[in-house]
Amino acid sequence: PAPIHVIGGGLAGSEAAWQIARRGLPVVLHEMRPVRGTDAHKTDSLAELVCSNSFRSDDAENNAVGVIHAEMRMAGSLIMSCADANQVPAGGALAVDREGFAQAVTDAVEAEPLITIAREEVTGLPPAEWDQTIIATGPLTAQGLAEAISAETGQDALAFFDAIAPIIHTDSIDMSVCWFQSRYDKVGPGGSGKDYINCPMDKDQYDAFIDALIAGDTTGFKEWEGTPYFDGCLPIEIMAERGRETLRHGPMKPMGLTNAHQPDIKPYAVVQLRQDNALGTLYNMVGFQTKLKYGAQGDIFRMIPGLENAEFARLGGLHRNTYLNSPLLLDGTLQLKSRPGLRFAGQITGCEGYVESAAIGLLAGRFAAAERLGDELSAPPLTSAFGALLNHITGGHIISNDEPGKRSFQPMNVNFGLFPPLEPGAIVRPEGGGRFRGKEKAKAKKQAMARRALNDFGAWLGQSGARQAAE
Ligand code: FAD
Repeated sequence: PAPIHVIGGGLAGSEAAWQIARRGLPVVLHEMRPVRGTDAHKTDSLAELVCSNSFRSDDAENNAVGVIHAEMRMAGSLIMSCADANQVPAGGALAVDREGFAQAVTDAVEAEPLITIAREEVTGLPPAEWDQTIIATGPLTAQGLAEAISAETGQDALAFFDAIAPIIHTDSIDMSVCWFQSRYDKVGPGGSGKDYINCPMDKDQYDAFIDALIAGDTTGFKEWEGTPYFDGCLPIEIMAERGRETLRHGPMKPMGLTNAHQPDIKPYAVVQLRQDNALGTLYNMVGFQTKLKYGAQGDIFRMIPGLENAEFARLGGLHRNTYLNSPLLLDGTLQLKSRPGLRFAGQITGCEGYVESAAIGLLAGRFAAAERLGDELSAPPLTSAFGALLNHITGGHIISNDEPGKRSFQPMNVNFGLFPPLEPGAIVRPEGGGRFRGKEKAKAKKQAMARRALNDFGAWLGQSGARQAAE
């Protein structure tokens, strides 16, 4: 058969190409780096992680992203197997050595005989002879292709901001002030309960820090960038402006942490640093995405106790993100309604995050392969994390009063809010069938949703073709 074309060798495109090859079909993977770079990528590896090295929670019993990790492993994800093989300790999270991870993906794809890698920029929509194509060019899609997509869809690609947190050389952190501890001493895969470096602040230090953040010089927004911030990824100085206590309830919350040097004094706020590479020589400032100018970042972040002499391997930043109005444009198999045979995958579809991008790449690859093989295209059940995420991207429209018939589509991480409600009786009651206390009910609900997701996804995988079962 003619090859399926995948444009973009990031998280989604690498996974899509891998899934297609696993079904015995040839693929051409078009990746523009190193011929042309992006604002965020630094290397020519496939699946480069442009910011954090975390794939977030790996807890498949209580957390929706942990559930999608588990489902991806069940579905034979290349991204997950390379992540698992390159883990660094990070509490309950799955974090990876970024270079080891990207190299593992690149090696696997290069060694796969059914995949041809073409190092070139694709500057327009696929030519007619590419009858099956997946566009997975990500939040920083090169301009020529972005313009062609925009012209085809008639919908302006929207822009918002993603954020880069600063990275610090570990040996420049003052450990006589800071201490190692995971929040609530949580022990994750390969972890010790002491995976984060914590920097404590008292009230005066916190107040001075907030004042400095608010007064700090920021980089102005360019006109073309024009859109508002994406909640959940707000610059630290904007959070500070929204209220003096906002940071103390967000990235700087002190809960679950005890200062090892002064156990009796409860810190007023804590800055957490997470290991960024396997060697442990770099730590990143969790949640400290910022639009502050580089000079201001150095001055202000060195006000943090323990970071007075911090050396920064990378300062924070903010970047453009391109994504489609997918619920209007794509069908339930990620295909552009106006151009059958052309699918989208990854962040450009309006999912958010490395894991979600790879997951949508996995589905797009499977859908394209099934179509080429003449198999039935069945979507994963809505109750699974895959199904819930796909449904968020392509699913039913919520009628808004402002724009009847349209819904306001916002990119989103996978979360239990996207899952359909539980059937009555699905929640396991506390021992002896008693009443739930405090947050027990919410926890039991998440656990029931997680169990249901994994069951239903397993059943779907089993049914979705002898071809998959035979692998
Ligand atoms: P990418 O991984 O970006 O892959 C797209 C690929 O397509 C790139 O390799 C690019 O070179 C190539 N390409 C683009 N245009 C063309 C073309 N015309 N022809 C050929 N090749 C092309 N997510 C997180 O989970 N955690 C984070 O910390 C995080 N930080 C981010 C920081 C920034 C600055 C940005 C922009 C995004 C961040 N994201 C983060 C969001 C998102 O999860 C990642 O961008 C993720 O890499 C998206 O995966 P993708 O496969 O869709 O795109």
